[in-house]
Amino acid sequence: MDMGFSESEIQRYARHILLREVGGTGQALLKTARVLIVGAGGLGSPLALYLAAAGVGTIGLVDPDVLELSNLQRQVAHTTARIGQPKVASAALAMREINPEVTVVTHQTRLDADNVAGLIDDYDIICDGTDNFAARFTLADACVAARKTLVSAAVLRFEGQLATFKPHADPDGPCYRCLYPAPPPEGLVPSCSEAGVLGAVTGVMGTLQATEVLKEICGIGESLSGWLLIWDALAAEFRKVRLRKDPGCQLCG
Ligand SMILES: [Zn+2]
Repeated sequence: MDMGFSESEIQRYARHILLREVGGTGQALLKTARVLIVGAGGLGSPLALYLAAAGVGTIGLVDPDVLELSNLQRQVAHTTARIGQPKVASAALAMREINPEVTVVTHQTRLDADNVAGLIDDYDIICDGTDNFAARFTLADACVAARKTLVSAAVLRFEGQLATFKPHADPDGPCYRCLYPAPPPEGLVPSCSEAGVLGAVTGVMGTLQATEVLKEICGIGESLSGWLLIWDALAAEFRKVRLRKDPGCQLCG
């Protein structure tokens, strides 16, 4: 097999290459893929670690914050010794330790309407691992405008949600605003810092998010475009709900 892989890459990715659905072709797709992770926290930690381990060639990280002690209950890319360091630098260190073959690009900034287009421009797939509605809507709108696939996860308390939005590639596929037309009124939906979250729930949802990103890159299996996956950890139940495109959607309709 000659897919441009070194001997050490072939060893590193042997369990992927063994999979008929991935193989050398899929691994080559992963190597050329460019994925942006917005939020280097509870969702972003497993996402960043698994995408790096999987050999996703270029991974961008966006997060404005420095690491705090209260992050470590769930944000497993970081360590106690790195408290006070920028989260993007801490996560990048962990990713490079797992896999020095991948390129990690750090953006220590808060994503907003002014910088979002420039941030997502260099990447093929965008991952929403943010913790607030302002960032979620800004990112979702920009992804529709730039025709980028958005894999979006969210967690609160003992629940998680996951969906893929790619209306540019799936004619029946909704966008984020087909699901949520506008941000909820300030204070209506609590954040994790107000309502809490079981740490392992962020790990599961970030890992599911990483899995969907890898599937989108390799073009395998059933896309989550048009579906919302909901996990109730206390009940130990997953549900998959159909999401329809809203013909009256102000963004994609
Ligand atoms: Zn829409």
